[in-house]
Amino acid sequence: MNTSVDKTFSVLLKEYAAEIGFDLCGFAPARSLDEHRAIISNWTVSGLNGDMAYLGQNIEKRIDPRILVPGARSLIVTGLNYFTEKKQGGNGIPKISKYAYGINYHHVIKIKLNKILNFIKSIHPESSGKSFVDSAPLLEKAWGREAGLGWYGKHSVLINKKIGSFFFLGIIVTNIDLDYDQPEKEDHCGTCTLCIDLCPTGAINNNRTIDTRRCVAYLTLESKAQVPDDLVMKLEGRAFGCDKCQDVCPWNKNSKPHKTPEFDLPAEVELMTAEDWKNLSRKDYKRLFKESAIGRRSYCRFMDNIEAASISAS
Ligand code: SF4
Ligand code: SF4
Repeated sequence: MNTSVDKTFSVLLKEYAAEIGFDLCGFAPARSLDEHRAIISNWTVSGLNGDMAYLGQNIEKRIDPRILVPGARSLIVTGLNYFTEKKQGGNGIPKISKYAYGINYHHVIKIKLNKILNFIKSIHPESSGKSFVDSAPLLEKAWGREAGLGWYGKHSVLINKKIGSFFFLGIIVTNIDLDYDQPEKEDHCGTCTLCIDLCPTGAINNNRTIDTRRCVAYLTLESKAQVPDDLVMKLEGRAFGCDKCQDVCPWNKNSKPHKTPEFDLPAEVELMTAEDWKNLSRKDYKRLFKESAIGRRSYCRFMDNIEAASISAS
């Protein structure tokens, strides 16, 4: 569908996205992100993707959403803040990354994206589109940048000048034309190297890529293996994910707490002691985390993480 660009509709769409809770929303024209072909290829050929082989597959599909969704004209990219000042108990307690405190963000964002799709349909009944949250070979961060949501920090995470970097991305690929935003072209990191200097495992390369084989987030979430012995003592008590490179970033100094109750840390988890974590039964693991991102990890691997985190915290 090739509707003429309706600027008023684009404004209405952004207002609607804000109304249903999104902190950021931008639009980018669908195109092939050719400049990413070599970057992905080099990164995976060097093995920096660890055992996530899929990241090196279907490259053409990954860089061109028009292959993924035939007829695609635009990408609507949303950002949802998940920053919180809340922290788990005290010393020696295995740490969970902020992004995994509450209900699995995939579910929360998907519901909101589908509301946007319905909103578009209500005004353009002939439109079509698909929503994605980490669920397809799409370069989410690159599209976030294209849609003006932010720039790649040296830690490779997208940073927005207003809300920092603690936000989830969601994407709609649609066949309508929109009033597009300008990609963020500036590098606002300047001479800062805090994230690189303070990363506990030295996983951040100096070209805005991460060596996932050393990254605590990857090792405790995605990796099918246990955390390698030489990195266990560098976990600094982390059992699931790592926020350090974002915590130390000056652009997160003024981050405001999110307004999405689904992302809150349940009181029962907040109060768990180190002993409670060590003795967590399979039954309680399922009960407490079946709706959380943590539940994506097997119970056995998660308990391996708890053990490794406890060793590094002691
Ligand atoms: S998430 Fe942690 S380990 Fe990974 S790059 Fe950031 S600071 Fe380093
Ligand atoms: S810590 Fe510094 S270098 Fe790293 S992303 Fe933030 S501003 Fe950029």
